[in-house]
Amino acid sequence: MLAATDRPIRSYAGSGCPFTNLRGKQVLNEDSSSRLAELEKRCEQLEKNLRLSEDRFDKLFHASSHLMTITTVKDGRIIDINETSASLGGFTRKEMIGRVSSEIGLFADAKQRERMIRKLQEDGRVHNLEMKVRTKTGELRTVLLSADPITLKDEECFLGISIDITERKKADESLRQTLAWQAAIFEGSRDGILISDKSAKIVAANAAACELTGYSKQELLKMRASDLQTEADLTELAVLHDRILAGEDIQGETIITTKDGRCIDAEFGHQRVLISGVPYVHTIARDVSSRKLLEAQLLQAQKMEAIGALAGGVAHDFNNLLSVIKGYTELLLDGFDQNDSRRQDLEQIEKASQRAVSLTSQLLAFSRKQILQPEILNLGAAIAEMSTMLRRLIGEDVELITLAEPNLGLINADPGQIQQIVMNLTVNARDAMPQGGKLIIEAANADLDERSVRTRPMMGKGPYVVLAISDNGIGMDAAIRSRIFEPFFTTKEKGKGTGLGLSTVYGIVKQSNGFIWVYSEPGKGTTFKIYFPRVRSEVNQAAGTKKIKHEDEGSETVLLVEDETSVRALASRILCERGYSVLQAGDGVEALRVARDFNGEIDLVLTDVVMPGISGRTLVARLESLRPGIKSLYMSGYTDTAIVDHGILDSKVAFLQKPFTVQSLAHKVREVINA
Ligand code: ADP
Ligand code: MG
Repeated sequence: MLAATDRPIRSYAGSGCPFTNLRGKQVLNEDSSSRLAELEKRCEQLEKNLRLSEDRFDKLFHASSHLMTITTVKDGRIIDINETSASLGGFTRKEMIGRVSSEIGLFADAKQRERMIRKLQEDGRVHNLEMKVRTKTGELRTVLLSADPITLKDEECFLGISIDITERKKADESLRQTLAWQAAIFEGSRDGILISDKSAKIVAANAAACELTGYSKQELLKMRASDLQTEADLTELAVLHDRILAGEDIQGETIITTKDGRCIDAEFGHQRVLISGVPYVHTIARDVSSRKLLEAQLLQAQKMEAIGALAGGVAHDFNNLLSVIKGYTELLLDGFDQNDSRRQDLEQIEKASQRAVSLTSQLLAFSRKQILQPEILNLGAAIAEMSTMLRRLIGEDVELITLAEPNLGLINADPGQIQQIVMNLTVNARDAMPQGGKLIIEAANADLDERSVRTRPMMGKGPYVVLAISDNGIGMDAAIRSRIFEPFFTTKEKGKGTGLGLSTVYGIVKQSNGFIWVYSEPGKGTTFKIYFPRVRSEVNQAAGTKKIKHEDEGSETVLLVEDETSVRALASRILCERGYSVLQAGDGVEALRVARDFNGEIDLVLTDVVMPGISGRTLVARLESLRPGIKSLYMSGYTDTAIVDHGILDSKVAFLQKPFTVQSLAHKVREVINA
């Protein structure tokens, strides 16, 4: 503090009594002089009062915790400044009095200063102007300034009163930032967040909660948390709510009913939060329905995979056995006369084994171990070709409608397998409409985007051709729907259903890189939708058209390699009977030895694909270097990546499907040697 004597001597009002001039004139009578005396007394009293009020103002000015300055209107020179004001700026009063604010560089923002001056000129005063001031050390502070005109010693002045709001502004700013952070965390969360009070009324909800539930914020704020869980028990929810309010953290899964009535699986976490000391329930909810869907679909796919592996293994072994049974039966049949009764017995055996072959081939189809010979084809044309046959299949009570989009894209699939799919689905539809009905077979382009694959997470987005087969028959409930693709699952009476129709379809679709979906409700009918990847290329007209007829006899030498003795003996017998010389080997190593030791020409190697030791593929490669020009024919009961890639046959490889017939073996051998 400065000493009182440092203060300049001054008076805040004009000096002297306004009546002195009157007394000086001496023109008064007695009456007047007594009134004058009274006036002088009053004048003295006024002067005393004035000094008193000056004194008070002075004290107020200097003792005030507000920032006070007095500046001239004329040039803005500081006439007086209180200690609070000077010390805030880091100055002494002496350093400031007599100077102009601009000399000291007091106002940091030139624009603010101009605005203040303009306002003072226009209105003669300012009120609560926010001004940035610079202290002696260069620090910036913010003050709220008001200024009013006063007259001091006939000089027009402004009395400026300010308060320092720097700290308040800092606090405001940090509060604003905190709020912005909180809002960003709350609103920016991808999980729905709800805050509900003691009575479970929702008091806050973020954008994700609105998206999850389909309700607007205003709607949610009028609801209770339990309104979103229509599937849950209200009493249970109330108990849960109390437990959370008592401080328990609760996590789990629930079903949320959205505004449009959909039920979605949601994962949630509840916990108590205290807001200004009041307990609330803080809930985080996340939509997990697509994850659950994916899990279910994965589980289903894994189940089918496991059953497929089992079925495929059985079918493989059966094929070898059936080759033998069928082959020898055929050989025996040739030896009997048409009228021989034993011939009829043999024909029964042949028929039964033929049925067994078709069963195993369906199992192989399901386990995706079939050999596919895909072509670029038009699904619509394929359906049109089948329509006469399909009409015969469904009978007169069922109406058949076939539809194909005009600019239908092409797919890469085995035409025989496509027929199989359409037939199996048609037969099922017919069985589902014993009283007659409508069967619609439709082929259309489908372009799946991000949204449409959300409900079918296993599928990639992109162009497809979809085959839809719909009936208005008995339909299926969820329990049946979940099992229909399992082999041997049937709801049909014994002798009517094998339970292999849909598993075959499933296997073919999967092996063709497609996807199958079923939509069905009891009593409402069924739609199967099969998506095949759409391909760009044009139809290859040349493919599969050249067919050369061969005589199936020959005199060439064939190296026969097969680990299954009975199959080998059968094949050998068939070939020998047609005039071929047959060299036999039980595995690849033996075959190589035979090939090295044999002096003559070997025209063809006929080999199994899967054998102990070296595989058929490796054997052929070695033989080709040992005996250049040797031809090769593979035989197998199922696909193997050694010769076919995912069941798709390489067109350069000759292949014979097991179980073979006498005819098919003889034909194929002749065809390969001739080629
Ligand atoms: P199957 O026809 O020999 O019973 P599938 O594998 O073809 O074997 O079908 C399995 C089961 O799926 C059927 O028994 C039936 O319960 C059900 N199903 C298949 N297609 C339909 C359909 N279009 N409508 C109703 N149920 C069907
Ligand atoms: Mg069927």
